[in-house]
Amino acid sequence: MQIFQCRACGSRLYFGNRLCLGCGRQTAYLAEGVAMVAVDIGNDGAPLPLADVDRSRRWRHCLHRANDDACFWLVDEADGTPLCRSCRLSVLIPDLSDPINHARWKRVEAAKQWLIHSLLELRLPFERETSGVPPLEFHLLSAQPGHRVITGHQESLITIDVAEADDEIRLRRRASLGEPYRTLLGHLRHEVGHYYWQVLASRPGFFDGFRSLFGDEGVDYSQSLDRHYQQGAVSDWQGRYISAYASSHPWEDWAESWAHFMHVVDAVDTARAHRLRLDDVLEPAGLYGPWPPDGETLLDLWQPVSLLINDLNRAVGMPDAYPFVVSPTVRDKIAFVSAQARALASPG
Ligand SMILES: [Zn+2]
Ligand SMILES: [Zn+2]
Ligand SMILES: [Zn+2]
Repeated sequence: MQIFQCRACGSRLYFGNRLCLGCGRQTAYLAEGVAMVAVDIGNDGAPLPLADVDRSRRWRHCLHRANDDACFWLVDEADGTPLCRSCRLSVLIPDLSDPINHARWKRVEAAKQWLIHSLLELRLPFERETSGVPPLEFHLLSAQPGHRVITGHQESLITIDVAEADDEIRLRRRASLGEPYRTLLGHLRHEVGHYYWQVLASRPGFFDGFRSLFGDEGVDYSQSLDRHYQQGAVSDWQGRYISAYASSHPWEDWAESWAHFMHVVDAVDTARAHRLRLDDVLEPAGLYGPWPPDGETLLDLWQPVSLLINDLNRAVGMPDAYPFVVSPTVRDKIAFVSAQARALASPG
């Protein structure tokens, strides 16, 4: 995540803040500028973003800001919908009259806002049909008696069990599955990886690279997952997969690798935003070259940055922020994902 500044007073604007802590102006996310901005209020009460935007355009706050304090994104009035580019993707949400649902849904939307911001930064398509795959959609659901919700994806639809926003529930599931890492943002980045697999699958040459790294995706999916949950991961998974779950099926390996590509891009970008200086030996290509860098450079940079964030966490008594080992095989997979994402990105 980059560091955003209030154009009126120069204070830092954090992603998600509703007010500038320096000058008290309202703040909002301007998807067109891929940035947090301060806003003035026009005579008619409409927000006026302090940013390089066409002054003739009219904006409003997303409906979920006033109603639920669940959003902070601006909506272009010309879009003809009261919901912003993140909220409008949630075609089903839980019953918000239940305060537990309401609190959980807000946390899922916050993670989704971060995800969508990353997709905008990477200039990846998600709002239009791409290669025959419909636009991305979300069902954010709460389990009901007799109705389980399973986090997962089907074609362009991502379903999230909002109970994952409850720390106690998520940590219990994490422990029972023996996972070192389980977060809402991680779920979203994994599931969106499945979406982009479908988008990429029709591109010439994709399967040659995919199958040589991830294997044959034609092996029976439900049998593979059943075997994974009954017998656990293959014993030597650490050298070949980023996580135990990635070893369950080539599709899951891809989705895990995609999620890690997004973690790595975001974390290295954050290091850049903070003007981190790496040791010359550890900085093979430089943090401040063209962005985003190619996959090999990105992973070269990630090595020292990931050690740093883990050491910083240990220094304050926290567990590792990135409890994973990027083996040479895993590195090749993430570099392949990175190259595919670059090829899919619209020109900057
Ligand atoms: Zn300010
Ligand atoms: Zn919104
Ligand atoms: Zn998956």
